[in-house]
Amino acid sequence: MEPHSREYRRAAEALLRERPEVRASVTAATTAFDEHRARAYGEIDADRWRSWAAGVKSHVLSHLDTYLEQAEASLRENGAVVHWAEDAEGAAEILRGIVERESVRRVVKGKSMLSEELGVNHVLEAVGVHVRETDLGEYIIQLLGEAPSHIVGPAIHRSLEDVRELFARELGTARDASPDALAAAARAALRDEFLTADMGITGGNFLVAETGTVALIENEGNIRLSTSTPRIHVALVGIEKLLPRLHDLAGFLQLTSRAATGQAVGNFVSLVQGPRRDGEPNGPEQVHVVLVDNGRTRALADDVAWEALRCVRCGACLNICPVYRQTGGHPYGWVYSGPIGAILAPSLLGLAEALPLPHASSLCGACTDVCPVRIPIPEILLAWRERAVAAGLVPATERSALKAYAAAAARPRVFGAAGAAFRATPARVRNALPLLRDWSAGRTPVEPSRKPFRALWQEGIE
Ligand code: SF4
Repeated sequence: MEPHSREYRRAAEALLRERPEVRASVTAATTAFDEHRARAYGEIDADRWRSWAAGVKSHVLSHLDTYLEQAEASLRENGAVVHWAEDAEGAAEILRGIVERESVRRVVKGKSMLSEELGVNHVLEAVGVHVRETDLGEYIIQLLGEAPSHIVGPAIHRSLEDVRELFARELGTARDASPDALAAAARAALRDEFLTADMGITGGNFLVAETGTVALIENEGNIRLSTSTPRIHVALVGIEKLLPRLHDLAGFLQLTSRAATGQAVGNFVSLVQGPRRDGEPNGPEQVHVVLVDNGRTRALADDVAWEALRCVRCGACLNICPVYRQTGGHPYGWVYSGPIGAILAPSLLGLAEALPLPHASSLCGACTDVCPVRIPIPEILLAWRERAVAAGLVPATERSALKAYAAAAARPRVFGAAGAAFRATPARVRNALPLLRDWSAGRTPVEPSRKPFRALWQEGIE
C-alpha cells in the first residue's frame, strides 16, 4: 500500500487546488469556535479546572480495569445490556446480532466519532438497514456522501451556498432559502425518521462508573430523540470515557462544553440510566452499551502516548491549529484529524500507517495551551517522530539530509562556510534546490539574512 504520508500531502494539495474556498470556510468556523472558547475559559479559573480534569482522567486511566468492572456492574443494575468489543469487527458483530434478533430495519443516529471510527453506517447498510444521521452537520455530510471534517462541526468545510444547493436537490427547498428555512426542512425530514426508527445509536461523552450513567452533550435535541423514541437504544462508548463519580460528571460537562463551543453547558444533556421502567411514559425498551477497545488498551500501555486517552473530543486543538485550519479534516485521511488525530493515529492505526500525521504540526504548542485535559500534544508528536526515525520509517533522503546537517552543525567552521555558500548562491538557483523548491512554489521565497545569526549575536552582546 502506498505510504499514508504521500496521501496526506497529496490530499491537502488537491483539496486546496480544487476547492480553495474550503480554507475560508474552515478558518472562519474554527476562528469563531476558538473565540467562543477563549471567552468561556475567561469566565472561570480555567487553568485550575483543566488541571483538575487532567488529574481525574489520569486517575481513571491508571485504574481502568477497576472502573470498567464497576461500570459494568452499575450498568447491569440499571437494566442495560453490556457488550465488550475488542475491535471494529467485534463491534460490528454485536450490532449485526442486535439487528437480527430484534428485526431492526430502520436506525437513527446521534453524532458519534466512535461510530465513524468503527464504520457503523457501512456495517448496518450492508445488512439492509436504513441508517439516518440526525445531527444537522452529520445529516448534511451523509447526503453529500462525505466523512466528517471536524470532531464537533462535521460540515464546517461546507458553505451556506453548498447546503442551499444540496437541500434544493434533496429536500426541494428554495435556492435562496434562509438558514432557518434550511434547518426547518431538515427537521421536517428527520421527524419521520425518528418516528419510524426501530433503533437509536449514539456515542457517549462520558460513562460514570459509580452510577452506570451514559452522559451525552448536544445542542440540537436529536440525541434526546434518538435515545428515547425508538424501542432500542445502543450507546457506543470507548473504554477511556469513564469517570469515577456523578460529582466528576458535573465538572466535565461544563468544561467540555466551554472548550468545544464556548457554552457554559450544551443545550441538551441526556443522562441515560437504563431502559424505560414500569410506569414511565417514554424511553426505550432496551438499552445496550457497547464498551469498545479498538486499540485503546495498546495505547494505554504506551508510556508516552497514553496521555492522549484523556481526550474528551472537544475539538479545541483543531480550532487553534495553524495546520488544520488550512484544510479541515479530510486530508488527514481518517476519522480523527488535527492535533489529536496526529497523536492518536499511530496508537490506533500503527505508526507506519499513520505517518506523516505526527509531522503535520509546527509544534507551536497552541493545542496544549487550550486542551481542557492538558494533553502534552507536542511531546507526544515528538515521541512519534523519534520512533519513526528509529524504526527506519523516514525516507532515506530526509535521513541523509538531517545527518549532513547534524555533522555540519557540530563543526562551527563547516557550518559557517555552508551558511556563507548558501547566502552567496543566486536566488534563482537557491529556490530550485529540492526542499526550497516545494516551499517557494506556493509562498514567498526564502531570503536569507545578509549576516549570519552568529554575527548578529556577537553584535548584540558587544
Ligand atoms: S486533545 Fe484536548 S483539545 Fe484536542 S480534542 Fe482532545 S480534549 Fe479537546
